[in-house]
Amino acid sequence: MAEIVAGAAAALTCGRCWATLKGTVYEVRAGSGRLARCLPCALMHLPLVARSLTIALIVGTILTAINQGNVIVQGDATLALAWKIPLTYAVPYCVATAGAILNARSKTAPTGGLD
Ligand SMILES: [Zn+2]
Repeated sequence: MAEIVAGAAAALTCGRCWATLKGTVYEVRAGSGRLARCLPCALMHLPLVARSLTIALIVGTILTAINQGNVIVQGDATLALAWKIPLTYAVPYCVATAGAILNARSKTAPTGGLD
């Protein structure tokens, strides 16, 4: 695993796929440290996925109860709910993931010149 070292002169690489990180780096938490990742690897970082799924489960359930609860309780559920309910869970997952990714984003250390 590649740990992020401030001011490191060597090229920064993703600690998962070993791609050279140019421009934007995503710093994901691992234990007490932070690890450098490319965007695809940051999106598949298991703690981030687990946290987003937890948020989606909680918020999606609340939103489904608010928006479709009466229809479900009355037993009048239609086929339209088959796509509305999964979307209701997908939205908080995307919002939580986007927030975490934007919060983890940082610029790589400049390799020379002024930035
Ligand atoms: Zn990667």
